[in-house]
Amino acid sequence: MMKRILVVIGSGLAGSLLCNELVQYFDVTLLEKGPKGSIKIPDIQCIKKDLAEISTFCFGQGGTTSLWHNGLIPINIKDVNSEDFRTVLAEASPYMDQAADALYFRNRSFLAEYERIVAELNALSDQYLGFPHGIDCLIYPKHFKKLQVDPKVSAVYGVQDIEFSFEDSRIKTVHYKSDGIRNSIDADYVLVSAGAMGTPGVLQKIFARTGVDDPRVGLGFIDHPKGFVGKVKFKKNFVPVLRKLSTYDKGEYLARNAVRLKSQCGNYTACAYFRPALTMANSLDIYKYKVALGAGSGMSRVKKMVSPKILHPDILAEIFSHLFNVSIPGRKFNILFVGEQKRGKSRVFFEGDRLQVDWSISDQELAVYQEMLRELEDMLEGLVDEMNIKTDITEDWLWSMAHHSGTVSMGDADEDLVDRDLKLRCCDNVYVCDGSVIQEHSYANTGLTIGMLALRLADRIREEAT
Ligand SMILES: Cc1cc2nc3c(=O)[nH]c(=O)nc-3n(C[C@H](O)[C@H](O)[C@H](O)COP(=O)(O)OP(=O)(O)OC[C@H]3O[C@@H](n4cnc5c(N)ncnc54)[C@H](O)[C@@H]3O)c2cc1C
Repeated sequence: MMKRILVVIGSGLAGSLLCNELVQYFDVTLLEKGPKGSIKIPDIQCIKKDLAEISTFCFGQGGTTSLWHNGLIPINIKDVNSEDFRTVLAEASPYMDQAADALYFRNRSFLAEYERIVAELNALSDQYLGFPHGIDCLIYPKHFKKLQVDPKVSAVYGVQDIEFSFEDSRIKTVHYKSDGIRNSIDADYVLVSAGAMGTPGVLQKIFARTGVDDPRVGLGFIDHPKGFVGKVKFKKNFVPVLRKLSTYDKGEYLARNAVRLKSQCGNYTACAYFRPALTMANSLDIYKYKVALGAGSGMSRVKKMVSPKILHPDILAEIFSHLFNVSIPGRKFNILFVGEQKRGKSRVFFEGDRLQVDWSISDQELAVYQEMLRELEDMLEGLVDEMNIKTDITEDWLWSMAHHSGTVSMGDADEDLVDRDLKLRCCDNVYVCDGSVIQEHSYANTGLTIGMLALRLADRIREEAT
């Protein structure tokens, strides 16, 4: 029997997993804008606030998994307010181990390991520290590489000008340019996985057939604003516990652990990581340099190292502890704050080929973060000898953690672009799966969730088509 034809747009985290899961059931064609075997940093225009000092996403084979650190953590369903998204996350949770395995957490159950560590850390915290909202942990497999698609997938790289033609409420044909030549492929299914930044551009093309731009496309962009917001020097007797709470080396993986923070209204969840430091100074300049250095790789990291800032004691501490996994002795720790955003007015859109990113942190969000930092100060009061936390942070102290999400609304309401099955409402054979459909993400890195959503979608499509 002829296999049905499935076109996947984008070879990033979601797109690669979708291709690999579905290639045994479908004739899969992957259309990727970026190059094969290398990456391209996109040219973007930030309208209000810059995302970060570093590139927060890229084009090319493997998408942003070419840049990422592969830290895995689930979004806690209890932190999610939207009922629709809670339901989707609950339906995706059986795929957690499979997604973690595809993302290099191998040979054992991720969920079992994660729950065991969280329980252990919370027992420690309850006994010695008493953090009221608990501890969470982010698991980093020590060996990972960017995702690759199965060689059975017909993968086309460097694709330009994707366009669609329709038959009734279905996409019939996908047109694209490759090596300057126009090609067309008839599709039974189209899966859009161009990332939270790229997918709105693809959807704009689909909505173009109505002749008007749909203002919902790309609206609701959220990220995790993160920043180093201060230093603490713990009392001697708490240091052994705090060290374990900061980073826990489990052999094949590292657990980096965070204190959970809740807003008084209960709607926002954030967290604070403790990272070893050598001084008690709070310098925004040094913090920004530290992030730029930590996130770069290869030659770009080497270039950043050519700066007098590299000799700052806190940067040296970060290099040894984070980049080389060497434990820094001492009682001083940096506080890395990771905040939650809610879908609102931030958005991404394309003008011609240029991506416009209209991102900001709202006054309400800033007030919530300041309130949480004051609460953190209170929590730490009895545990520290010295504390230097910047509780009245401004936007300047925070930048993107590269967890771009929310640019496609998902839910049961007619105005949501995709339904709970991630099917585009206006087209019967188009699904969207990548960071864009994540509606809320507390402080949790999104990669594991994107993987779980991709595997759930792959199962549904396979069931529907076979
Ligand atoms: C430095 C860094 C560190 C990170 N560390 C972590 C971490 O530790 N843990 C974690 O969970 N997350 C981390 N992330 C974030 C994580 O990498 C992303 O959330 C994830 O890769 C997003 O997956 P995606 O499938 O939504 O999009 P992407 O992986 O960005 O893939 C989108 C793909 O679509 C392609 N594309 C775009 N537009 C088009 C188009 N018009 N036509 C065809 N193709 C198109 C792109 O080229 C790309 O290949 C990190 C990110 C960065 C930058």
